[in-house]
Amino acid sequence: MNREKTQPDCVFCKIASGEIPAKIIYRDDEVFAFPDINPITPVHILVVSIKHITSLAEMPDKETPLAGKMVRAANQIAREQGIAKSGYRLTINSGADAGQLVPHLHMHLMGGRHLDWKH
Ligand code: 5GP
Ligand code: ZN
Repeated sequence: MNREKTQPDCVFCKIASGEIPAKIIYRDDEVFAFPDINPITPVHILVVSIKHITSLAEMPDKETPLAGKMVRAANQIAREQGIAKSGYRLTINSGADAGQLVPHLHMHLMGGRHLDWKH
């Protein structure tokens, strides 16, 4: 389980600490957010836990309120980005079949165009 708060070789922990630069557009005591480096939609923001949790599957039950805080932050950012009315999608990839690349809990906030739904 994830007992450490940060992982020294984790890209999102390094962004949280400022070691890797990113345009931080939101930060509170548990969540921060920045644009995805490789956006697939006109608005593509990563909403990330500050604490290092490897994945949704590895999230301890006691940490589930954190998921609500990530949704709350994403909703606020969606309003700020002007996509709250046009629509947006929140996605958390967990594990290999979902295509999770970065093993640190994060949510994709995507919008700014019509999003297809195919898997
Ligand atoms: P995953 O596939 O794990 O759900 O998504 C990871 C996302 O992180 C990808 O969309 C990828 O483009 C993004 N990403 C990976 N490394 C960096 C980085 O150093 N900076 C930023 N801004 N995004 C990153
Ligand atoms: Zn991390």
